[in-house]
Amino acid sequence: MFKRIRIAILLFILASVALGTWKSQSRTRSWQSTLYVTVFPINADGSEASARHIAALEESSFEPVEEYLDAQANEHGLAQTRPVMVSLGSRIERVPPPRPRTSSVLDAIRWSLTIRYWAWANTPASAPKPDIRLYALFYDPATHHVMPESTGLQKGQIGLAHLFAEKRMHGSNLVILTHEMLHTLGATDLYDLRTTLPLYPDGYAKPKQSPRYPQTQAELMAGRIPLSETQADIPLSLRETVIGARTAREIGWLHD
Ligand SMILES: [Zn+2]
Repeated sequence: MFKRIRIAILLFILASVALGTWKSQSRTRSWQSTLYVTVFPINADGSEASARHIAALEESSFEPVEEYLDAQANEHGLAQTRPVMVSLGSRIERVPPPRPRTSSVLDAIRWSLTIRYWAWANTPASAPKPDIRLYALFYDPATHHVMPESTGLQKGQIGLAHLFAEKRMHGSNLVILTHEMLHTLGATDLYDLRTTLPLYPDGYAKPKQSPRYPQTQAELMAGRIPLSETQADIPLSLRETVIGARTAREIGWLHD
């Protein structure tokens, strides 16, 4: 009985936020005007290394993302000249609640609501008001070897990226941030969840290349450069990735 009431309340909250969410989603996916993205850094492990890395971040640290999306949008024939502007927001002190390890749908819904509440309660005001909020959680690579999984939520347009606090990792950090940003716009993963290998053909930068291997770039939502049927490499910068036709369709750049 109580469980039913809890679910009913949850559904009510979902329904009431759905309208606002739908409105903002249809605006961002129409690509009529520039989308504002703000990156909020978080010292996720409370380390010196993360604090130093965050202090060194500048507005210009994210320019490669803007230039990349400009060029990729252009490739897909989008008329909008600056589709996305990325700015650096203030540092956030409080770490977001971790994602549940279960695959239960109810847990996923609950976590999505919890994150949206956390974002509402902890995000400092910034101008322009962001359409998409990306939280960059930094960890010292000397003490963290495996990162929690990064996430991009279409509902609420929130991305959580778990990143290494190291200058030479900045390029691959931008790949992860942009990947999660595209999730918030409706893009889906193009890799095999079990093996992490890119899915053929949509997850390949050049699916028609012959011979097929090795590829030299990754499709952004596949996240890896296919080297052979069983091997794939992590791209070190956005220059080593492209946005393929399927992703372009999912985010509203292509309409065929
Ligand atoms: Zn993903």
